[in-house]
Amino acid sequence: MTSLPLIRDGVVRGACPHDCPDTCAMLVHVKDGRAVRVQGDPAHPVTQGFLCTKVNRYVERTYHPERLTVPLRRVGTKGEGRFEPATWGQALDDIARRLNQIRSGPHGPQAILPYSYAGTMGLVQGNSMDRRFFHRIGASLLARTICSAAGTAAWMATYGDRMGPTPEEAEHARLVLLWGTNTLTSNPHLWPALRRARERGAKLIAIDPIRTRTAAQCDQWLPIRPGTDAALALAMMHVAFRDARADVDYLAAHTVGWEALRERVLNEWSPRRAAPIVGLDEGQIEALAAEYASTRPSFIRLNYGLQRHAGGGMAVRTISLLPAVTGAWRDLGGGATLSTSGAFKMNNAALERPDWITPGTRTINMVQLGDALTLPDAGVGGPPVQALVVYNSNPGAVAPDLRKVREGLRRDDLFTVVLEHFRTDTADYADWVLPATTQLEHWDVHTTYGHVYVTLNRPSIEPVGQSLPNSEIFRRLAARMGLTDPELRDDDITLIRQALDSGHERMEGVTFERLLEEGWVRMNLPREWRPYADPRPNTLTGKIQVLAPELERLGLDPLPTWIPPAESADAAPERAAAFPLTLLSPPEHPFMNSTFVNIPALERAAGTHAKLLLHPNEAAVRGIVDGDRVRTFNARGDFRARAVVTEDVRPGVAVSYGVRWASRSEGGTTVNDTTSQRVTDMGGGAVFYDNAVEVERVPAALEPAAEGEEPVGAVAAAAA
Ligand code: SF4
Repeated sequence: MTSLPLIRDGVVRGACPHDCPDTCAMLVHVKDGRAVRVQGDPAHPVTQGFLCTKVNRYVERTYHPERLTVPLRRVGTKGEGRFEPATWGQALDDIARRLNQIRSGPHGPQAILPYSYAGTMGLVQGNSMDRRFFHRIGASLLARTICSAAGTAAWMATYGDRMGPTPEEAEHARLVLLWGTNTLTSNPHLWPALRRARERGAKLIAIDPIRTRTAAQCDQWLPIRPGTDAALALAMMHVAFRDARADVDYLAAHTVGWEALRERVLNEWSPRRAAPIVGLDEGQIEALAAEYASTRPSFIRLNYGLQRHAGGGMAVRTISLLPAVTGAWRDLGGGATLSTSGAFKMNNAALERPDWITPGTRTINMVQLGDALTLPDAGVGGPPVQALVVYNSNPGAVAPDLRKVREGLRRDDLFTVVLEHFRTDTADYADWVLPATTQLEHWDVHTTYGHVYVTLNRPSIEPVGQSLPNSEIFRRLAARMGLTDPELRDDDITLIRQALDSGHERMEGVTFERLLEEGWVRMNLPREWRPYADPRPNTLTGKIQVLAPELERLGLDPLPTWIPPAESADAAPERAAAFPLTLLSPPEHPFMNSTFVNIPALERAAGTHAKLLLHPNEAAVRGIVDGDRVRTFNARGDFRARAVVTEDVRPGVAVSYGVRWASRSEGGTTVNDTTSQRVTDMGGGAVFYDNAVEVERVPAALEPAAEGEEPVGAVAAAAA
C-alpha cells in the first residue's frame, strides 16, 4: 500500500504535530476537500475533546494568505526577503548541483549542515527520510539539543528510559508539585487530571520564579530564585532523612549510592543553609519538605524550563530523586514526570539509518549555530559550513545569540535552503525557500512525551499550492543527486510501518491497520502504571543511580548537588553587578515556540509588542513605570519591549515571553539577541534562562497600542 484516497467529506483522524507533551488526537472536519474545523478527539483519554488555543487555529494557519505555495529563489540580498517564484524542477536541480559541488569539493560533505528540530514531532516528516539523506551524503551531524538535552541526559544517568505518571495516573495524587512548569500553557491536558485530583482533596503547589497563569490557579506559589531548584530539592531530602521520612527500604532495594546522598544532605543542606540560596524562608522550605515527605501519593511535574541553565542537568537529576527518597514511586500517581518518551519502543534505527553515518563524522551542536556559521572550522574542527539545510525549525528566531546567527546567515558564501510554511526570520536569508506541507496535508505517526499512546496522522486535504512533504522533498533531492539506494525511495506509509515494526513486546498489536481504524493505540503497558515501583532501569548499574559513575567520568559530581547558573551572582558576581537581572523567556501562551506568531488572532492575544515583566522594586530603581518602552540588554545584544510592572515576578528577575520573530519586532531584535551559546552541564543543552541582563527606560513618547492590541499597564490606564 503506497497511498490511500483522501476523504473529501467527513472527519479525518490526525495528530497535533507540535512540540508539546499532550500530542492531541485531532479530528479534522472536511467539506468538499477543504478542512473547515479541527477538534480534539473526545474519545482520547488525554485529549478529552479539546485542543489548545493555538491549534484551534490550525485551519486558519493552513490556509493563511501568506502561506508559501511555490519554490522561491532569492533575488535580494540575504535577510532582505526578496524572492522570485520558480518551479520545483529549477529548485531541485540547482540545490542538487550545489550540494554535489560541495560534497565533491575540497572541504567534502561535512561542509553541509542539516538543521532541524521539533517543528513537527512526527517521525516521518521529522526523523526519517531527512536523516537517511544526510547520513548517506556524509553531511555533518547535528546535536539536537535546543530544548530537552540536559534533562534527557540527567534522567538517563539516573533512571535510564524517561518515564513517569501520565495524566491518567496523576489524578490519584494527593500532593502535586508543579515545578518550573506552566501547565495551562505548555501541558494543558494535565490540568483536568489535576482538577480531579483536587476535587478529591489534593493540594497543588507551584514552584516557579513567575506567578504564571498556572501558579495563580494553585493553592500555593513558591517564588524560587531561578536556577536554584536543586538546592531546594536537596533541602527537602535533608528534612526527609532528618525526620525519618525517607523510604530506606525502597532506597536499599532499588538504588545505588543513597547512603552517600544521605550523608551529604544531612551535613550540607539544612533548610537554613538553602533558604538564602533559593530565596524562600527557612519556614517555607521546612513546611514544603514536611508536606512532601508525609503525603502519599505525591506527584512532581517538572518541565524543561528549569534545565535551561548551566546546572540544568543536575537540577533535573536531583529533583527526580525526591520520589526515590520518599518511596513515592510505589504509589499509583506517585513519582515525577519529566517525559514519558522512554515508554515508546519504535524502530528508530530503521527510520533513520544511523548505520549509514560515515565513521568519524563530526557533530555540531545546534545551540552553537552562531559559532558554527561564523568560525572557519565551525567551532568544532573540520571544514567551514558551506551549506545549511533548515527544516522543522526557525533558527533565525529560536537559536540563542541571534546577532551571531544572523552574521552567519548573511555570509555570501553560505548556501542556505529552507523548507517552510511561511517566510520566517530564517527563510529571509535563504537562497531557496521550499514550500512544505502542514500536518493536514501529509502522513505521519507520533509518539509523545506526556502520555503513552501512539497516534497516526492521516492527510485530510490535498497539499496547499505546490507544497510537498519533507519526506518527498528529500526523496526527490536524493534522486536528483544521483543517490540510488532503494531506502531513499520508501514512501510515507512504508516508513510508518517500519517505525512500528520494532519487535518489542510493548509494540505488539500497534499496527498501521489498527491505527488507521482507531486513530491512536496505547502502548502495551499496565493500566495502572507505576513505572518505577519495581524498577529494572537500563542504567549502567541496573539500579536507580543516586550515584551515577558516568557523571564522574564527565568531570561532574556523581552525587546530586547544586550547580549555580553561570551568569548568576552566585557564580559570576562581577557580571551580575553589570547585569543584575536574570532574564527568563518562557513560551507566550498563544504561541508554540516561534509557530503561530503570524496568526492574527493569536498575535492580537499576545499583544503586538513584546512585554518585559519587572517587579515593582526593580522598576522603581530604574525609573520605569508600567507601559514604558524599555530596552533590555547585555554584552551580546538587546531588544525592545513594553514594561509590565508586576508582583508576578520576584525581584532580581525579568521575564519576556517568546518566541517572537525579529521581523515582527521593534528594532528587528528579540529576546534571543541576549541569550548565550553556552551549554548545560549534561547533554550540551541550551541555557536560555541563564541570562544576565540590565533594563533601561527608552526615553520616547508613549505610543498608543496598535489597533486590536490588548493595552498593557499605563497604556491601559490612559485608554481607560
Ligand atoms: S499544542 Fe499541545 S495542547 Fe495544543 S493541540 Fe497540540 S498537543 Fe494539544
